[in-house]
Amino acid sequence: MESNIFYDRFVDRHIGPSDEDIEKMCSVIGVNSLDELIDKTVPSNIRLKDKLELEEPITEYQLIARLKEIASKNKVFKCYIGLGYYPTITPSVIKRNILENPGWYTQYTPYQAEISQGRLEALLNFQTMIIDLTKMQIANASLLDEGTAAAEAMSMLYASRKSNKKNSNVFLVSDDVFPQTIDVLKARSEPHGIELRIGKISNIELTEDVFGILVQYPAADGEIYDYSDLFKEADSKGIYKAVAADLMSLAVLTPPGEFGADVVVGSTQRFGVPMGFGGPHAAYFATKEEFKRQIPGRIIGVSIDSHGKPALRMALQTREQHIKREHATSNICTAQVLLAIMAGMYAVYHGPKGIRAIAERIHNLASILDYGLNAMGIKQLNKNYFDTLKILMNSKEELEKVKSIAIKNKINFRYIDSITIGISISEVDTLDDIKLLLKIFAEALNKKFDENILINQYKEFPENLKRKSKYLTHPVFNSYYSETEMMRYIKNLERKDLSLTTSMISLGSCTMKLNAATELLALSWSEFSDLHPFAPLDQAEGYLQLFKELEEDLKKITGFDAVSLQPNSGAQGEFTGLMVIRAYHHSRGESHRNIVLIPSSAHGTNPASAVMAGNKVIVVKCDESGNIDVNDLKEKAEQYKENLSALMVTYPSTHGVFEEAIVEICDIIHKNGGLVYMDGANLNAQVGLTNPALIGADVCHLNLHKTFAIPHGGGGPGVGPIAVAKHLAPFLPGHPIVKVGGEKPIPAVASAPWGSASILPISYAYIKMMGADGLTKATKVAILNANYIKAKLKNYYQTLYTGKNGFVAHELIFDTRKFKQTANIDVDDIAKRLMDYGYHAPTVSFPVPGTLMVEPTESESLRELDKFCDAMISIRKEIEEIENGIYNKEDNVLKNAPHTAEDVISDNWNHSYSRRKAAFPSKYALENKFWPAVGRINNAYGDRNLFCVCPPISEYEKIEVNT
Ligand SMILES: *Cc1c(COP(=O)(O)O)cnc(C)c1O
Repeated sequence: MESNIFYDRFVDRHIGPSDEDIEKMCSVIGVNSLDELIDKTVPSNIRLKDKLELEEPITEYQLIARLKEIASKNKVFKCYIGLGYYPTITPSVIKRNILENPGWYTQYTPYQAEISQGRLEALLNFQTMIIDLTKMQIANASLLDEGTAAAEAMSMLYASRKSNKKNSNVFLVSDDVFPQTIDVLKARSEPHGIELRIGKISNIELTEDVFGILVQYPAADGEIYDYSDLFKEADSKGIYKAVAADLMSLAVLTPPGEFGADVVVGSTQRFGVPMGFGGPHAAYFATKEEFKRQIPGRIIGVSIDSHGKPALRMALQTREQHIKREHATSNICTAQVLLAIMAGMYAVYHGPKGIRAIAERIHNLASILDYGLNAMGIKQLNKNYFDTLKILMNSKEELEKVKSIAIKNKINFRYIDSITIGISISEVDTLDDIKLLLKIFAEALNKKFDENILINQYKEFPENLKRKSKYLTHPVFNSYYSETEMMRYIKNLERKDLSLTTSMISLGSCTMKLNAATELLALSWSEFSDLHPFAPLDQAEGYLQLFKELEEDLKKITGFDAVSLQPNSGAQGEFTGLMVIRAYHHSRGESHRNIVLIPSSAHGTNPASAVMAGNKVIVVKCDESGNIDVNDLKEKAEQYKENLSALMVTYPSTHGVFEEAIVEICDIIHKNGGLVYMDGANLNAQVGLTNPALIGADVCHLNLHKTFAIPHGGGGPGVGPIAVAKHLAPFLPGHPIVKVGGEKPIPAVASAPWGSASILPISYAYIKMMGADGLTKATKVAILNANYIKAKLKNYYQTLYTGKNGFVAHELIFDTRKFKQTANIDVDDIAKRLMDYGYHAPTVSFPVPGTLMVEPTESESLRELDKFCDAMISIRKEIEEIENGIYNKEDNVLKNAPHTAEDVISDNWNHSYSRRKAAFPSKYALENKFWPAVGRINNAYGDRNLFCVCPPISEYEKIEVNT
C-alpha cells in the first residue's frame, strides 16, 4: 500500500478508528499492539502465511472510472424478451428517496419493531397491494424471486397435503411455466422425493398421485388460459392449485383468487424495480387464510403497543427457523425488503387508476402490434394475451432475417425456437416503438406496412378473463399523487426508522458495516440496471468481466477453487452448498449419505437448509465454554459414519470465539466420509488472517450483504455466493437458459443465472478499494472493536465466552440473564431501553436465549464505540438502581421502555422517575433525540389476532374508488 501515490485512501474512510485510536484501544484491552491481539486471538495453526494476492487498492475516484469503463462494455438494447423480466420506470421520487437513500438501505430487518414502524408500514402496503391484485387473503412481505417462491409454494403444499393425499408425491407443472422456475423446482423437489411431472395444459391429467399443480398466468409464451374448470376439478380431488402470475396483468385480468387458486406467487419486478441483469427484485407469495401458519418468510401484522394503540411488527413464523430449526419448512431469512418497499411505493405513487392505466397501455400497444402484424399477413399465435405475442415465421431464414435487423436496431426479442419469436411489451414502450417493431418485420419479410392503420386497436378481453373487482382502494394508495406529498410520505416513514444514518447497529452475526456511497453508485447506472438476465451475452461483457474478477477475488479470499454467484441470500447459499455436497456423494455412488451434523449454537437457517437438501440433522453439543464438544462430535461422526454427509460449522463460532479445535473437527468429519460446510456469515473475522479452505472446509457461503459491504436494506437484498474446493466445482448450479456452473451442474437455485447481479458491483468496489492490506486490517479492527467493547464493559456485563487467552473474535455475547433474578429485568428490557438512548439493540437471544450478541464491525469509530458503551454502562446503573430498591421492579425506565414523545409530554405522568430520565438519559440523547414511534409492542396480541393488511378496516371499506 505504501506504493500507492494517493494520500486519500479508502481504507481510512472505511475503518472507524484511526491508528492513534487503535493504540489507545490496545492499551485499554491490555495488549501492546493490534498484531499482538490478533496473535492471541486467532489460533496459529490456521493463520495465513502470505498476504492475499489481490490487486493494489484503488481510490474512490479511480474505482468510479474503472466501473464506468466496465459499464461501457454492457450494451443496453430495447428489451422485449419477457419471461418474468420487463423494462420498467422507477419513479424518480422513489429512486432518489428510497433506493439511493441510506436512511432506507442501511436499515436492518425490523426485529426491533418500535424503531422500524416506517418500513413495517411500507411492507404492509406491499402485502395489501399483493392481496388486492391477486385477490387472496394473506400475503408475506417478499421472497427472493419467482422461481424460489414457486418452490416455497410447492413445499408448503406438500407439507400440507390433505388427508386423502398423504401418499401422493407428484407436483404437476404446466410446461409453459417459465423455464427458470421449472429448473428451480427441480432442485427443490428432488431431495424430498417429490416427482415433478411436466405436462401440456391442454391435456393435464389429475391422477391419484398428484398433490398439487402449478400454472403460469399469463403463460410463458403469452397465452392466457382460463383455469377455472381445471381448478374446480382439482379441488374436487383434493389437489392444491398454485398460480405464478404476472402482477401487472392482474390489474386487467381476472385475479387467481377469483378462480380458485390456493397459492399465488410471482415477481414484483415490473413495479418500478429495474431488471438489473436478473436481480434483486421482490417476489410475492399470497395464499388463503388456512395456510397462515405455514407461510414462508416474514409477514407484517398489526398489533398494539403498551398504550393500546395500533403498532406494526413481524408476525408469527418470522422467527420460524430459529424456533422450528430442522422442523422448519423454509429457510428464508434475508428476503428482498428494499425492493418490496419500492414495489409497494410504486403502487402508492400510481394508485389504482395509474396502475390500471399502465396495464391498459401495455395491452393496448400489444394489441396494436398484433393488429399491425396481422395486417401484413404475419401469424400471431396467441388467442388471448396481455403483453406477450408469439409470432410464427415461415422458415428459419425468415427468423434470422428478423433477428439480424432487430439487432441492428438494438432490439432484443425472445427467440422461442428456430421459427417462433416472442415479443413482450412493457411500461416503457410507446406507439413509436411499436411502429419500429413493425417496420423491422416489414423490412425483413418484404411486406408493405401502413402506419396509419394503427390507431386504437385495444383488444378487449373475453368476459371470463376480464377483471371486474376493485383493487388498491385503501387510502394509502389514493393520497399521494403529488410528488410533494409522496416525498413527504416517504420521509415520514424514513424518520420512524433507525438506520446506520443515526447510530451504530451492533447486531451480532449481521455485520452492519459501512456501505460506502462510492460502492453503491454503479448499481443505478443504466448499463448495470437495464439489462435483461437472458440478453445475449455479447451485450453483457462488462458484467461478465466483473463477475470473473469478483469470483477470482473471492477464490483468493476463501482459498477455494470455484465460485457460484447465483444464490441470492446466505440461506440460499447454504442450500446450494448442501445440494452440491449431495451431488458429490451421489456421483460417487454414495447417495445414502444424508446425515448432517450441526452444533447446537448454529444459526436456524443451517438445520432448515440441511433438511431442505434432503438430510437428517443430528445436533452436536457445545461444552460450557461455548466450543463444539469434540468428544460428542467424534462419537456422532463415528456412529453415523456410514451415512455421514457433512458437518455445518460457523467459524469463528456464533459464540464469538475462534475455536482452537477447528482443524481437528474438520479432520474427524473427513475421516468419517463426510464433507465440511462452513457457514461464512462470520467471514468478517477471517478475511486476510485465515480462510475456510485452510481451516479444512470443502465449501462455504459468503454473505456479501454482511462481509462485503452490500447494505442490509431492511431485510434484503442479499447475495450468498458459495465457494468450493476442486472436487465440488463440477456440481455448481446451472441454469436452463444461460450456461453457468460446473460440468455436471445441479439445477438452478435462483431464477437468474447470476442471482442478484446488479448489486455485485458493490462487493467488487469494496474489495478493489480495500486491497489485501485494507481487507486484512478491516478484519483486525473488527476483532479489535469487539475486544474494546468487552474491555470497556467488563465491570458491568459479563462476556459469556472467550478464546483461550481471554479474547473474543469479531463479536461477543453479554450474559444478561442474572438481571432477571436481581432486578426482574429481561434482555428485552435492555434492548428496548437502548432505544431511549438512540441505539438499536444488539442481537437478542441468539445464539443463547437471554443474552445480547454485539458485533461492532471495523467501520465504527472509537467515539461511537464509547458512546454505545456509555449507554450500556448507564443502563447497567439503572439496573443497579432497581437492584438497590431505588426504583421498583415493575415501574422503572427499563420495563417501560421505549418512551415515546407522547409518553413524556403526557399531563398525567405517574412514574417514580422523571421525564428527563425517561427520554433523555444521556447528553447524546438530549442532543440527537431519536423518538421511537410507538410504545413497547405486544407481540402475543398480534399473533392471536392476525391482521395483515393496511388498517383501519372501517376506512378501508368506506372509500369509494373507481378503478
Ligand atoms: C445471516 C446468517 C445466515 C443467513 O443468511 P441470510 O442471508 O440472512 O439468508 C446464516 N448463518 C449465519 C451465522 C448468519 O449470521
